[in-house]
Amino acid sequence: MKTIRTSIFELFKVGPGPSSSHTIGPMKAGYEFMQQVHALPKDIRTAANNLEVRLLGSLSATGEGHGTRRAVMSGLLGYEPDNCQPNVLDSFENKTTPFEIDLDGAVLTYHPGDIEFGEINHDYPHSNTMIFRLRKDEDVLFERIFYSIGGGFIRWEGWETPRVGEPVYPYENMAQLKEHLRNNGMRLHTLILENEKAVTGMTEDEINAGLDHMCDVMERAVEIGIQTEGILPGPIGLMRKAPVMYAMAKKEHFQGSGFIKALNAYALAASEENAAGHCIVTAPTCGAAGVIPAVLFMLKRHMGALQDEVRRGLLAAAAIGFLVKHNASISGAEVGCQGEVGTASSMAAAFLAYARGYRFQVTENSAEIALEHHLGLTCDPVGGYVQIPCIERNAMGAVKAYNAYLIASTLDESYQKVNLDKVIAAMAQTGRDMSQKYKETSQAGLALSMTEC
Ligand code: SF4
Repeated sequence: MKTIRTSIFELFKVGPGPSSSHTIGPMKAGYEFMQQVHALPKDIRTAANNLEVRLLGSLSATGEGHGTRRAVMSGLLGYEPDNCQPNVLDSFENKTTPFEIDLDGAVLTYHPGDIEFGEINHDYPHSNTMIFRLRKDEDVLFERIFYSIGGGFIRWEGWETPRVGEPVYPYENMAQLKEHLRNNGMRLHTLILENEKAVTGMTEDEINAGLDHMCDVMERAVEIGIQTEGILPGPIGLMRKAPVMYAMAKKEHFQGSGFIKALNAYALAASEENAAGHCIVTAPTCGAAGVIPAVLFMLKRHMGALQDEVRRGLLAAAAIGFLVKHNASISGAEVGCQGEVGTASSMAAAFLAYARGYRFQVTENSAEIALEHHLGLTCDPVGGYVQIPCIERNAMGAVKAYNAYLIASTLDESYQKVNLDKVIAAMAQTGRDMSQKYKETSQAGLALSMTEC
């Protein structure tokens, strides 16, 4: 194991849905490939007359439904997830529309449909593999193999960890994190903030501005989602549910079951925006982009949370996300949905507890309970679209997060027998044991029993 050096803004990223590993990662790969091509000697660039892009593994199995082609295409044309508007992606939908890729010395005409879906089973070290080859006829002039490793992160052969600062309080797991808190008499959000400053070189004001921007994007996704009616893109013909749920919650004045209906509506809203390919925040992935925004919206609109409390809660949520990413995985293609909605629910439970001002132990217990009850959850999106079961699954994740927070904050800590490190280890093992069929390939489970879409 190695010290955690992930930044908050690597975990929470702004970008287009519907799947961080299938849209944000591939878009970054397309963009990065072109950056590397532009750095090649001019004679190589001017000799090129052909580009090959092949998507393997789960990118091939479910890339069609996830819009992976249009994501790669937009990256090749110089768009990055952070600054890419949803309508830009929409313009790459048609497979036969020609686009000009500028190699700075030569221009290639390329169509989104030229991007190939290759083998689902292969020997590369990560399921989500992308092969980019710049060619002159049959000769390969430049090749780069990228891996979309989940949460919008990419790696490539020869990739080196960027030089980052060393965390002030190094830790690999929750036990070590707790030791720092005890030894230094610190609170969790302060430790995460200090580490973030050290690792990224950002100031506290810059980090707070980044957190506030993230909140704005999350809240906007919920606000748009609860007001938008209609059918989501794709062959399933799935109706948006969020506005109906929200109207019911409002009718009940957000009291009693109206409160839970509102929480459901907020999670459905952000998830439906994700499914529409609109801008969301990976929290920690696109597929799970509805859980934390739902809790955030609930905290701010119905529980009177101040922005400073929200920021602290998000820092606590980030700590949970780091621990899961580092010691298990947040990728559905690696460990199934327990890594996506399971992690999001665990982060959201910690977010709630910490933002509400509970002791650290209540925060850890909330996170543990939420994750424990997602263990073994498979990933089997129907038709390869991040819609069924994903959208409702986000609503379930948000409600479970709230319930985990209620259990942890109501019962005495002595009731708690499982700690967060143990449940993360169980999740990693469960993911390793899980059949490949249940890891974002749409080859089993619900995806197989609903083939008519
Ligand atoms: S089932 Fe879960 S892991 Fe799979 S695509 Fe849907 S949200 Fe992501």
